[in-house]
Amino acid sequence: MKAITLALSKGRIFDDTAPLLAAMGVVPSEDPERSRKLILDTSRPDLRLLVVRASDVPTYVEHGAADLGVAGKDVLYEHGGQGLFQPLDLRIGACRMMVAVPNGFDYESAVRHGARLRVATKYLNAARDHFARKGVHVDLIKLYGSMELAPLTGLADAIVDLVSSGGTLRANHLKAVELISPVTARLIVNQAALKLRRDRIQPLIDAIARAVGGLSPEQHADAATPVLHAAGL
Ligand code: ATP
Ligand code: MG
Repeated sequence: MKAITLALSKGRIFDDTAPLLAAMGVVPSEDPERSRKLILDTSRPDLRLLVVRASDVPTYVEHGAADLGVAGKDVLYEHGGQGLFQPLDLRIGACRMMVAVPNGFDYESAVRHGARLRVATKYLNAARDHFARKGVHVDLIKLYGSMELAPLTGLADAIVDLVSSGGTLRANHLKAVELISPVTARLIVNQAALKLRRDRIQPLIDAIARAVGGLSPEQHADAATPVLHAAGL
């Protein structure tokens, strides 16, 4: 019988997903941080993990190359979500998508006076929709990482980035000025796979749902809360 595959990324997504898998009795055969393997067996012979780049998770699941996946709301928004069923908020990988500017920058009046903002971000769709809703004209500059550098070098006036503790912003003399959206990771499922193999996939979704419900409040701790207060939101 063909194994069911779950796509996920190394780093914080894997770190936060591992306790959910453990609660279901699923343990990966190897530590993805140490192994060079990209397909990992688990203690369940019918379940395999695919280790992919965070932003590639929805693509694997959309095309059915993976049956299920774990992806942040940020990543899903940029992908568009087509072909994906999103049955569960896993309540892991909590952070906030925010607008941030240099400490001395008066964001409120820049926005009020209708100045055209230059905004650097990895999250073009989220940023475009956010500023369109506000009626603020922006020139978006696509970056792939280290957005904090953009205002410091004159590349942009503002950035749209994910914030959890706020430490990276502070270290780079930036402040969060506006919340775009809270972000958590979701379970995503290929819609066709769910229809064709519901007998095998649905019990897995149910088990993950029970694991999410069973995690302690500390494990769901929303590390980003202090930032929200600091930003006066
Ligand atoms: P890559 O490092 O491959 O370019 P990435 O930066 O999106 O991709 P990670 O840093 O592993 O990958 O982040 C994966 C997910 O973790 C994000 O998509 C987001 O949903 C979540 N996340 C939680 N807190 C943060 C944070 N402070 N910064 C970035 N991502 C966060
Ligand atoms: Mg990263």
